[in-house]
Amino acid sequence: MKISCKEFDLELKHAFSIAKFTRTSTPLLLLKVDYQGKTGYGEASMVPYMGESYETAHAFLKKVDWSRFQFPFDFAAIIEYLDSLATGNPAIKAAIDIALNDLNGQLQNKPCYEIYGADPAKMPVTSFTIGIDAPEVLRKKLEDAKDFKVIKVKLGRDNDKEIIETIRSVTNVPLYVDANQGWNDRAKAIDLIYWLHHQGVVLIEQPMDKNDLEGNAWLTERSPIPLLADEAMQRLKDLDGLKGAYHGINIKLMKSTGMYEGHQTILKARKLGMKVLIGCMSETSIATLAGVHLAPLCDWADLDGPFLTVNNPFEQPTFENGKYILNDLPGLGLKGIREDLFG
Ligand code: MG
Repeated sequence: MKISCKEFDLELKHAFSIAKFTRTSTPLLLLKVDYQGKTGYGEASMVPYMGESYETAHAFLKKVDWSRFQFPFDFAAIIEYLDSLATGNPAIKAAIDIALNDLNGQLQNKPCYEIYGADPAKMPVTSFTIGIDAPEVLRKKLEDAKDFKVIKVKLGRDNDKEIIETIRSVTNVPLYVDANQGWNDRAKAIDLIYWLHHQGVVLIEQPMDKNDLEGNAWLTERSPIPLLADEAMQRLKDLDGLKGAYHGINIKLMKSTGMYEGHQTILKARKLGMKVLIGCMSETSIATLAGVHLAPLCDWADLDGPFLTVNNPFEQPTFENGKYILNDLPGLGLKGIREDLFG
């Protein structure tokens, strides 16, 4: 197995503001694995608030003994091995998992969705995310959202109603809201949730602080629309503790260490009767496609990474009528590959 990797700075179309942070680009590590005449591609997207960096990613890769990974791959054992090398580091673990899943599909000559039992005909629409901004900037961002059937709005500061009213002056599409832990008063939050429900909001991510399980549960008991754990939901092991406190979860492959555990998480959430949104970080076509292959198993998708960035170096995945269209190429089906990007 031959490994190559290179750093890549993924630039955001708009400086991205959520309730607690603002940033203009995201450091990625692009990873390529050559094995038995096939090549698998992976990617770590290291958004700063998750604590990973080029340094931590390179340090982790140095620990990996690639000779342990032999086809047919045992992904449960692979993740267990990666976790044994170091805790945390979910994004670089995801890069390895995604590259090996791409490779696995190619070695089996099957698309990843087929291996995971996902039906491309059941692809949910993908939402387009709009960060917190002044009304005139919001109106401009909404022009970029014309092709989308759903818009996801970041709330959680003191102008939530103004943001929704601005959006509603431009479009009537259904809305997802992400409060990013920004609400701290239960009574005010439930009033706002009812108001948002009447404004056509169909789900809300992470209303209150991720550590306030009781506060989020109090809202979940009363909310007319699904409330989802995002910041509170990292790895599969977190899921048990969230049942009852939320209607569902937002999984992201950069939190779940990639496709294998992401898939396990979807299956377990189903067993617990919980809903699933599949989201993303700022990602190129590689990690986005990895999410798209699992998206038909989820209730909702928020896989807008390539639409929120300006220098995705690969071909954009096919997107029509608000949803991704999966091709029947083996593995991830990545197109427009540039070998120079992998070192
Ligand atoms: Mg979120």
